[in-house]
Amino acid sequence: MVSASDATDLAATAQKFLAEYLATAPSPCVTCSFQAEDMVVVHMVRAVLPDVPVIFLETGYHFAETIAYRDRMAAEWKLNLFNVQAEMSVAEQESKFGILNQTAPDRCCGIRKVEPLFRALGGYETWLTGLRREQSKSRTNLQVEEDFTLPGGKVLRKLSPLAEWTARDVWQYAEAHNIPLLPLYEKGYTSIGCEPCTSLPFDSNDPRSGRWSGKKLECGIHIQAQ
Ligand code: SF4
Repeated sequence: MVSASDATDLAATAQKFLAEYLATAPSPCVTCSFQAEDMVVVHMVRAVLPDVPVIFLETGYHFAETIAYRDRMAAEWKLNLFNVQAEMSVAEQESKFGILNQTAPDRCCGIRKVEPLFRALGGYETWLTGLRREQSKSRTNLQVEEDFTLPGGKVLRKLSPLAEWTARDVWQYAEAHNIPLLPLYEKGYTSIGCEPCTSLPFDSNDPRSGRWSGKKLECGIHIQAQ
C-alpha cells in the first residue's frame, strides 16, 4: 500500500529531477492530452519553465468536455499551448476514406495523431510525457529517460518523470496541488482519448480497457522508428 509520505517522496524526486534536468535541457516541450498524468507533469514543468511549449493533439474527435477543460486550463495556467492538427480535416478524411476510426483505427491514428505529432516534435530536442509503466502492458519497459527516434532519424531525449507512479500517486499530487481534473473522470472514464474510441473501462483492473474497445493498446505516438 502506498502511503502519503511515499507519494510525497515520489513527487519530490520527480520535481528535483525536472529542476536539474531542465536547467540545461535543449529545446524542451511537453505533450499534453489534458488527462491527469499530463496535468501533473505540466504543473511540475511550468514551475521551472513557465513558457514551456505544451503540445495538444487536436484530432477533431475529442469530447466537448476535453476541449472545454483544455481551454479553461490553458487560460488559468497561461499555457504556451500548441494545438497540433492533421493536414487533412475530419470532413476531408471522412469524405475520402469513410469513418476510419471504425474501419481502420491504426490508419486514423496515423493521420490524426502520429504524423502531426512527429512533425511537431521535429522542432524540439527534449520531449516530456506523463506516461506511467502501470498504465498498460505496452508500457512496462518505460524508462524515466530514454532516446526516441523519429521517422527520418532525428533522436530526441524523452523524459517520463512519472514512470514509476501509480494512479493513486497521480490523484494525490493533483489533490495536494488543487489541480482540477477533466470532469469526464467523474463519469467513470479512467483513460480518455478521442470520443469515438473511448468508452467506460470494461475491466476494472485495466484502466485503458475502454480505449479502442480493448482492440488496440496504443495510438502509435510512443512507438519509435526502428
Ligand atoms: S483515437 Fe480514434 S478517432 Fe482518434 S485518431 Fe485514433 S482512431 Fe482516430
